Amino acid sequence: EEYVEAESEEHLEERPPVITIMGHVDHGKTSLLDAIRNARVAHGEAGGITQHIGAYTVEQRDKKITFIDTPGHAAFSAMRERGAQATDIVIIVVAADDGVKPQTIEAIKHAKASKAPIIVAVNKMDKEGANPDLVKGQMAEHEVSPIDWGGDVEFVPVSAKTGEGIDDLLDNILLTAEVMELTANPEAAAKAVVVESSVEKGRGPVGTVIVQNGTLSVGDNVVCGKAFGRVRSLINDQGQQIKVLGPSETAVVVGLNEVPAAGDIMIAMESDKEAREYAQKRAEYERQKELSASTKTSLDELTALIAEGKL
Ligand code: GDP
Repeated sequence: EEYVEAESEEHLEERPPVITIMGHVDHGKTSLLDAIRNARVAHGEAGGITQHIGAYTVEQRDKKITFIDTPGHAAFSAMRERGAQATDIVIIVVAADDGVKPQTIEAIKHAKASKAPIIVAVNKMDKEGANPDLVKGQMAEHEVSPIDWGGDVEFVPVSAKTGEGIDDLLDNILLTAEVMELTANPEAAAKAVVVESSVEKGRGPVGTVIVQNGTLSVGDNVVCGKAFGRVRSLINDQGQQIKVLGPSETAVVVGLNEVPAAGDIMIAMESDKEAREYAQKRAEYERQKELSASTKTSLDELTALIAEGKL
């Protein structure tokens, strides 16, 4: 199989945005993710059962939006620590009746460090004590300034309970994405990021990935962190078996030899041999890094010692 160069400009095509929702506990991250998913799951028949796989794609005005469905800041941090910029836009949820709290501030820090644009979802607007202006004031104190106050961040009032504002929120995501001009090359060798993983009965080690570039296909030889394998099947967020997965799309990958970690990058290789060798090199590198840390020998010194046959 021949692959065109990943960055080859003529093959760049628009790709859907990938979204992470962050915010303080109980402010409605899970509820909002559920409300969005239940409202508009892409490629699903009405009433189709959605599966929790760690990410899902919805459709809004014939455009796709992929959400990372693993609330909590830990997964986001794990991905960033591995250098995986898995998110294009960060939604920070703030409960309108509770205002800015410690984990809201943490979310702001994560979002700013990742340089991803922020949209604030002011949630629980259905509640009597809802005070969106208070939220705006508190967020502005943390340099998240509302557009209508002369800043650059959109604040969208929503209710995960009644569904109010969900449409606006999705429209705002599309507008932000349009400005970002997100592109990928569907013809390149696949590069994807793992958002969730587990061992499943009958399937073995599996990982939910979001494709960042290229197209991942059933039959591809892949390396993923220390794991490797051949893609045996791809199962989307509707539980359907699919053959190919394009940029910003998500599916469970079956066929790995071991469980990958959240944040691991999956790369399609030309051959089974190459994938295996690459995975072994990665494992060896990890082993050396651990040895280096435990013996306080630098990685370079260690590599030299190994080369000289002294280790
Ligand atoms: P998370 O910890 O951020 O994931 O928050 P959850 O989604 O678990 O929500 C925490 C609580 O707030 C639950 O009892 C939800 O039912 C409730 N909740 C979430 N969104 C709304 C909303 O828009 N309106 C109201 N009234 N309650 C909400």
